[in-house]
Amino acid sequence: MILLMGIAGSGKGTQGKMLADKNKFHLISMGDVVRMYVTGKQRERMLAGELLDDQEIIEIVDKVLKTIPGNEEVILDGFPRTLPQAEWLVEQAKSGRFKLRTALHLVASREAVKARLLDRARIDDKEDSINQRFDEYEKSTAPILKWLEESGVDVYNANAEQTREEVFKELETHLEQV
Ligand code: AMP
Repeated sequence: MILLMGIAGSGKGTQGKMLADKNKFHLISMGDVVRMYVTGKQRERMLAGELLDDQEIIEIVDKVLKTIPGNEEVILDGFPRTLPQAEWLVEQAKSGRFKLRTALHLVASREAVKARLLDRARIDDKEDSINQRFDEYEKSTAPILKWLEESGVDVYNANAEQTREEVFKELETHLEQV
């Protein structure tokens, strides 16, 4: 299993797709899965931009992973987003369910992300909300990466301010080594 971490605008979606297509891996985007899966109260919370409870999201990831043959590689995008989610994932790996090969962290500065998102010009990509997203991302992701590393998971910080081809090459080179 390969984890893909990075803020919106870091190129996570693009790189996840390129890596999965080239290497013929599964690509699980939690945002897509949640949009496909949830109804009722959960959907309401999703639409309000709130994270689902850890128990709820873990149940969904668990179900999706059960549909994938154990020997096939998976790129997971959008999970873990909290420490309890990361703890669950590492526990599953330790129990032998899959191998946590690496967490690919796409590192881009606030300015680079801002330029890309404003360019993309989605309705929720206004400057204020970008700043807020960046603050939240730093607050939530830094402890997860630190914890993964302390648990023995390889964490790779890639320079995501390069062109998409350059970033892709850097990630591929790293994947050859883990
Ligand atoms: P995204 O497209 O990645 O922003 O995800 C869309 C929505 O799905 C989020 O706003 C959350 O409601 C839900 N979601 C996706 N991934 C997670 C996660 N790891 N933990 C909790 N909720 C999640």
